[in-house]
Amino acid sequence: MRLSRYFLPVLKETPSEAQIASHRLMLRAGMIKQATAGIYSWLPLGFKVLRKLENIVHEEQVRAGHIPMLMPTLQSADLWRESGRYDDYGAEMLRITDRHGRDMLYGPTNEELITDIFRAHVGSYKDLPLTLYHIQWKFRDEVRPRFGVMRGREFFMKDGYNFDLTKEDALHAYNRHMVSYLRTYERMGLQAIPMRADSGPIGGDDTHEFLVLAETGESEVFYDSAITDLKLGERVVDYDSRAECEAIVEEWTTPYARTDETHDEAKFNAIPEERRRSSRGIEVGQIFYFGTKYSDAMGATVQGPDGKSTPVHMGSHGIGVSRLVGAIIEASHDERGIIWPEGVTPFHAGIVNLKQGDAEADAACEALYASLTALGLEPLYDDRDERAGGKFATMDLIGLPWRITVGPRGLRNGVVELTSRRTGESEELPPEAAVEKLAQIYAGHVLRPAF
Ligand code: ATP
Ligand code: MG
Repeated sequence: MRLSRYFLPVLKETPSEAQIASHRLMLRAGMIKQATAGIYSWLPLGFKVLRKLENIVHEEQVRAGHIPMLMPTLQSADLWRESGRYDDYGAEMLRITDRHGRDMLYGPTNEELITDIFRAHVGSYKDLPLTLYHIQWKFRDEVRPRFGVMRGREFFMKDGYNFDLTKEDALHAYNRHMVSYLRTYERMGLQAIPMRADSGPIGGDDTHEFLVLAETGESEVFYDSAITDLKLGERVVDYDSRAECEAIVEEWTTPYARTDETHDEAKFNAIPEERRRSSRGIEVGQIFYFGTKYSDAMGATVQGPDGKSTPVHMGSHGIGVSRLVGAIIEASHDERGIIWPEGVTPFHAGIVNLKQGDAEADAACEALYASLTALGLEPLYDDRDERAGGKFATMDLIGLPWRITVGPRGLRNGVVELTSRRTGESEELPPEAAVEKLAQIYAGHVLRPAF
């Protein structure tokens, strides 16, 4: 993309309504614009990041054997009356009446709708196990929408639902979700710690929330620092293997990690003092096993191997995709702007032309642009006729992890400059070597066609 043709409405001033870094930076970097309280338009740069996260979530869900689909945002109140949640859900549910006077709602979550689909089409235990998921906009009429996309009213969520014959099968689904979530967050360059949590209006006993540590997080968390050393890394996981999934869950749930809702002072104090940590965290996902709560209420049964009708065991599993954009920024920024991890960056590298209009500099930039694009990478070329300082400030603000600076002086010596946004370190090297280096850096990442 050439910046002269892009739509990147960066703000010079710091917006006064934004209280936390990610909100300020998303507004300043031209990623979002508030449409009304808690509802945002995703401008091109923000949309690009949101799509990257969505892709990672899809890939890891499909890898775990879960099946993507799409359910609508608007639902009929009738299903929610069946489960008993229409009255229970309270003021967070946006209720709408259509022209025929029928009660509708903008879905805050989808347990009812998916259970209805299940009961209409699945009748035998032979069709199990089954996990269906979608990534769709949700609406919760939060009392105090705040922090930009972190606590919006409309937000983008992946929600998945498992249907299993027995509790053991459903717990395997729970474990599978935990492992696939750990992998998802790692690919986004994040550490999200699973913490035993409270189940709230979804119901059930087994639930973990995934928290990204950040001072601006809304949850108070307590953990054993040993958990922050864990990494899935390159491990290949067989999601059909109960033992393998269970072992990973065991590894991540053995060190103490809880939110204030389930915090146990005695257990916490049993951790060696130097490893005891309390801080704040951002909830970026949650998994639940809730047994037959919805299948009992809504008659979601299958014929078991013994020929008897039996209610299915279910769980639901959510990732806050739009909140993650903010959470990544909270975890990765400095005073100059955002620092995107390579796995989610909207463009792989910025090209800054120090002397736009200079025939050699222009040609070198065009050549770099073409070589990077040919590798499947997406460069953002700042081809505007602007001062170098302004170009650097924009690149730093929008946070591309790598910048190639091209100027007549360097070109006379046959070099350009490659700079890491994270460390600030620069190295001078021939243009082809810079391209080669970026190819190596992004070798492990899935590249997507530009849109
Ligand atoms: P919270 O406690 O933050 O209100 P929740 O526990 O009610 O969230 P879940 O039902 O667990 O939310 O939804 C799954 C994920 O969706 C959450 O982990 C979070 O990342 C995201 N999410 C929930 N509410 C919002 C919101 N208002 N804005 C943005 N993301 C949200
Ligand atoms: Mg939650």
